[in-house]
Parts: sequence; structure tokens; C-alpha cells
Amino acid sequence: MTSKPWLKHYPAEVPPTFDYPKQNLAHFLKESAQTYPKHIALDFLGKKISYRELLDSAYRFANTLIRLGVRKGSRVAIMLPNCPQTVIAYYGTLLMGGVVVMTNPMYTPRELEYQLKDSGATVIVTLDLLFDRVYQVKEKAEIRQIIVTSIKDYLPIPQNWLYPLFAKLKKMKRDVIYGEGVYSFVKLLRRASPEPCGVKLDAENDLALIQYTGGTTGRAKGVMLTHYNLVANTIQNRLWSYRSKQAGEVYLSALPFFHVFGLTVLLNKSVYLAGTMALLPRFEIALLVETVRRVKPTIFPGAPTMYAGLIRHALTGSTLSSLEVCVSGAAPLPAEIQQKFEAMTGARLVEGYGLTEASPVTHANNIWEKRKIGSIGIPLPDTEARIVDPDHDTELPAGEIGELIVRGPQVMKGYWNRPEDTAAALRDGWLYTGDMAKMDEDGFFTILDRKKDLIIAGGYNVYPREVEEVLYEHPEVEEAVVAGVSDPYRGETVKAYLVMKKNSEAGAEELNLWCRQRLAAYKVPHVYEFRETLPKSLVGKVLRRKLEEEEAEKTDDD
Ligand code: AMP
Repeated sequence: MTSKPWLKHYPAEVPPTFDYPKQNLAHFLKESAQTYPKHIALDFLGKKISYRELLDSAYRFANTLIRLGVRKGSRVAIMLPNCPQTVIAYYGTLLMGGVVVMTNPMYTPRELEYQLKDSGATVIVTLDLLFDRVYQVKEKAEIRQIIVTSIKDYLPIPQNWLYPLFAKLKKMKRDVIYGEGVYSFVKLLRRASPEPCGVKLDAENDLALIQYTGGTTGRAKGVMLTHYNLVANTIQNRLWSYRSKQAGEVYLSALPFFHVFGLTVLLNKSVYLAGTMALLPRFEIALLVETVRRVKPTIFPGAPTMYAGLIRHALTGSTLSSLEVCVSGAAPLPAEIQQKFEAMTGARLVEGYGLTEASPVTHANNIWEKRKIGSIGIPLPDTEARIVDPDHDTELPAGEIGELIVRGPQVMKGYWNRPEDTAAALRDGWLYTGDMAKMDEDGFFTILDRKKDLIIAGGYNVYPREVEEVLYEHPEVEEAVVAGVSDPYRGETVKAYLVMKKNSEAGAEELNLWCRQRLAAYKVPHVYEFRETLPKSLVGKVLRRKLEEEEAEKTDDD
């Protein structure tokens, strides 16, 4: 066995190693705008924006930030769905040396406040529909400027199929209070200069992104990704999908850009290759079908639940027949979904793996070559991977289960303001993923379990501790523990086990309402079970795993 048995599966076109340029991540946009100025970069429900226009708007945004006092290294939060403004704000910030903090639009004020305070963001770009939430935390989070935009700012002249969306938007509440640090995105852009502005960067050390993800300690941590990390991972992904055409692919862009999977595999890669991104502000079947019919996408990276959703709606093969390449990540891809989706569309659907701390992709099955169903594939170029015994940190041979560790140019600089967590996760350049895995003799890796207690519900990460904290705040809750239980559609769903105080009258309905007011919808438990006691270890730690095992036995008995 060589130490890298996977290398024998590398197609001739894919170099095992590459010299990644040390440049601003936004350089990809400058190059594409120079070579393909008129090529369509973004298609937002029919509104088309060329590369030249995109770069022009990004410079206007960069110059606006400079005028507002934002400097190199300042954090700029973006709380938007997938729409042109997200891409403009992202590249504008990168161009002037700012650090992007992507924020989930589903966050409640409490979650938002935590992330803004922790990252030290001073500016946030958001939607009028989300303004209320942002304004509530403005003072506490020390946000100096809120830049507000509307979905309508970039919609095309309405056509019949868009009427339902317009009607929906009209009914939604938006009470933006302009003035006093609250600005209109379109007005700022109109007034700003499109003159190129530059900044001197040390690509290996200067941050492009602080991207939030959780861990064993519950609260989300900011992952520091440098320009070099993201440039490298974009190119690694491009090398892997070597047949993708320059300026010829259309990306169905449903994966949210606030997750690093969407940022790298969709946004950065499409801009690098001068592709066209058909932006979907949300994963809605009617919108998706209309978009597919109109733009005929060729590439669709997604999470397993998205593919499952399309199968459930039994879209006919012809609807999706333009699709050629689909890459699934973020959670395990069930074999049944993979097979059904391929049979339905004729596209290739392969599984990959990654984590925020690695920008994110480290492994993937190759689209055109040998693949293994149920496996995450083999390491990408310049990516080393090992399985180690989690107790002794020694390398394990093929076939044995241990913790997956990875090393490569895409591995983060560390956690923002958390040196201890960084020292625990990064040792000798190796990133300890917290995922239990094994490698076969052939060099293919399979993920078996998570060392950390992360629940992935419908592709979204839920950290049990965070949900437990909210439950504990309820005056009638004595003890609470949250675990992931298997769910045929969402992969996993959140279940809460509770011991209530004496004489408590609160039931599932009340607790559900309590959680809804404090947590994004995807974190709210779907099931509540009330017990007299909870299983505990000798030191009094609730044994979450035991509850999960009980649940698995119940499912097996069914
Ligand atoms: P995030 O940092 O949000 O990208 O979450 C990363 C975690 O998602 C990993 O540590 C894994 O636990 C999980 N994950 C990602 N891709 C896969 C996959 N293909 N199979 C199983 N788990 C995955």
C-alpha cells in the first residue's frame, strides 16, 4: 500500500499538484470581466447581468465602503438570499480588502447579535424584508451602517410567471427607516464611482471570509479563510471537474451563498470559469422548473435534500435533461436518491465531502471516472488525508475506523479569536475533522459517524447545545437534551427529550412556540418526548448517544 493509494485513480487530465496563485479572490472576477465582458454572469429570474456590469457594480460597492470608512481587514456582514446584490457586495468587499461575514437570513435577532458581535462586523448588507431583525440588534452589536436592498431592485420587468412572486412580495412587511446609518443599496451604488480600487494583500495571511460554523462547544465559531485558501479550493474543484467548459456552463444556483459549499462550488467556481449563474433566492419547485426551462442549466451542485425534493416532485426527465453534472455535499447522499436522480435526469450525480474549516471541499468522487456509491470519493489535488486513532493520534491502516484528518492549501488559518480551539483542531498543519471515517485499500473514503454531536437536518447544521440552551431557559424545564433522529426526508431531524419541573403544564406545543421565537426554523425540534429521568454518565453528563441508540433500535424494530 502506498501512503496515497488514491493517486492511481487520478485521470490523466488532473494533476496531483498545482501552483495556486497568491492573489485576491476577486481577481477571478477581474479576469472573467476582461476576457468575457459581455458574457452573462448572473441571471436573476430573467434579469441578466454581464461580467463587465458585475465588475462595475462591485467596484462601486467597494468605493462606497471606502467612503463609509471601511478599511482593509474590517468585517462586512452580508445577510441576503441568493440574488445579484449578494454577489456584488461579496466581490465589492473583497476588492477593497474587507472581510466578508456571511450571515444566514433565517437567523433570529439573538443568533444574529451573537455573530455580529463575535465577528466585530461594523457594516451589514441586508434585505428590506429582514430589516426589522437587523435594526433590533444594531446598537448592541455596534453596527455603524446598515445597507438595505430589495429583491425588486434587481427583478426584470414582470412577466406572467413572475406575478405570483410579485404578489407575495407586495404583501410582506418592510418598514425600513432610512437615515442615521441606514442607506439604500441602489442609491449608494448609483452615486459611487466605478473606478477600479485596489489593495495590497498578503493572500496567504489576509482573510477573505470569516465563516461561522459550530463545534463541540455549542456556540458557533468563526472560521478564518484566507484569499489563498479560497483561491486554492476553487482551482482544486475546477481541476477535478476538468471537462467543465470555460464560459460555457450554466449553474443552477440554489445552494445558499451563506454556506461555504455554495460560495466555493458555485459562486467562486462559476466566476472563475466565466460561467452563468441562474440565481434562485429560495429552493422552490415552481421557481426552479421555470428557471430550468428558461436557462437550461448544465451544472447543479446541491445538498441531498434538494435532489430528494426533485425526485419527490417527480419532475420528468425532459424538464431536467440539460443537467450534466451534479455534485452532492454537506450530508450523506443516500444511494437510493443518487440512483433515482440519475435515472430520472440522465445527469451524473456524485458525492463529495468537506467542512467549513477546509474552504470546504477535501474529497469527491470524480465525475467522469471510477466512483463508489456511499463513499465520499478520494482526496482532491494537493490534499492529504489520513485516518487516525482518536485516542492515540496514530495512523490507522486501510479498513479501520478512526478520525479523518486532512492537510492542504484549503485548510483554514484558524478560528477567529479562539486560539485554544485552533490549537485543538489544527496540529502540524493537519485539520482534525471530528468525523469518523475509514479508507479502503483503493484509497476511497467513507464517513461513518460524527465525533462531534452535530445534527444535519435537511442539509442545515444544528448544534444540540444551542437548542438545549434555549429549552433550559424555559421556566418549567428541569432538564433537556437534544439529539438527531433519522428522518426519511431530511436525513436527520431534531428531537428534544425533556424532564419537566413538578406541576409543570407546558407541553410540546408551548415548547415548540418557545423555540420558534428564539431559533431559526430548521433548529426547532420536530419531536418532543417527556421523561421522568434522562440517562446519565457517572459524572452526570446526559448520554445523548444512548438516546440515539434507543431511537435507532425503535426504527429497526419497525
Ligand atoms: P460544514 O462545516 O457546515 O460544512 O459541515 C461539515 C460537516 O458536514 C462535516 O464535518 C461532516 O460531518 C458533514 N458532511 C459534509 N459532507 C458530508 C458527506 N458527504 N457525508 C457525510 N457527512 C458530510
